[in-house]
Amino acid sequence: MLNRIILTSLLSVFCISVTQAFQDDQVTLLKKLTGASPIMNGVSLSERYEQKSKEQAAAYLKQQMDEFCDEVTISSYSKTGSNVVGIIKATQKTDQWVVLGAHFDSVRNCPGANDNATGVSLIYAVGQHIARLQNLRYNIYIVMFDEEERGLIGSQAFAKRIKKEGVNLIAAHTIDQMGWDQDGDKGIELEMPTDALRDFYLNVAKKYGFDFPIHRTNVTSTDHNSFRRIGFNAIGITEEYKNGDTTPYYHKSTDTFETVNLPYLKSTTDFMKKVFEEMLIK
Ligand SMILES: [Zn+2]
Repeated sequence: MLNRIILTSLLSVFCISVTQAFQDDQVTLLKKLTGASPIMNGVSLSERYEQKSKEQAAAYLKQQMDEFCDEVTISSYSKTGSNVVGIIKATQKTDQWVVLGAHFDSVRNCPGANDNATGVSLIYAVGQHIARLQNLRYNIYIVMFDEEERGLIGSQAFAKRIKKEGVNLIAAHTIDQMGWDQDGDKGIELEMPTDALRDFYLNVAKKYGFDFPIHRTNVTSTDHNSFRRIGFNAIGITEEYKNGDTTPYYHKSTDTFETVNLPYLKSTTDFMKKVFEEMLIK
């Protein structure tokens, strides 16, 4: 009995510290992308708009993704743009794929914390989580898109590429702006989901007791639309714009790490981990 108690408590301490470590990783990534801490020795990013800062951000993201992806490439599609593309392979034979994406570029003179280091940190944390699961039924692309702010250019290039390659894509899920929750209800919005995707998200919320508001909107001004417009299923996930509950620092130099609501980001990250777990595990 005693041994079992000791074992159980050791196990729970271990699990808590593993979980904690992953959360810390997510916040570390958020800090480095936004210049709240240096991305490498002596270099802090004040934005991710200029070519040099985007290259530094992409190299850092590749390095982080290399730790849990089966394969990561910095995929250059033009002189000015490169997506960071990670692959986690299914554990069973399949030709089916799912995309989880977020843009890593910012507008000029903006640390782009809410928009969209939060989304990048979320897909990074969900990717880490997926990589530890057994029995994955689909292959997964974890993609950090470039040049969303210049007109969804990186996601368009990626979507067109996989279309051309004949990739059998089940759906693309993209995250943009996930760090503001003034009213404290932890609400989120689903942008342009198919009915099936919406029902799936709502069922996962119900099953795991996520009781925050989930709204459906027709917003098309971010990366998920690059997939939808060439015929793929797609959904966007974002903070609650309803009632104006979105960052007042949008595209400003004040969109800093300090303004991110970390408990809110964690709540949505936990939810998205469950969404992907339910989708992938068979
Ligand atoms: Zn954005």
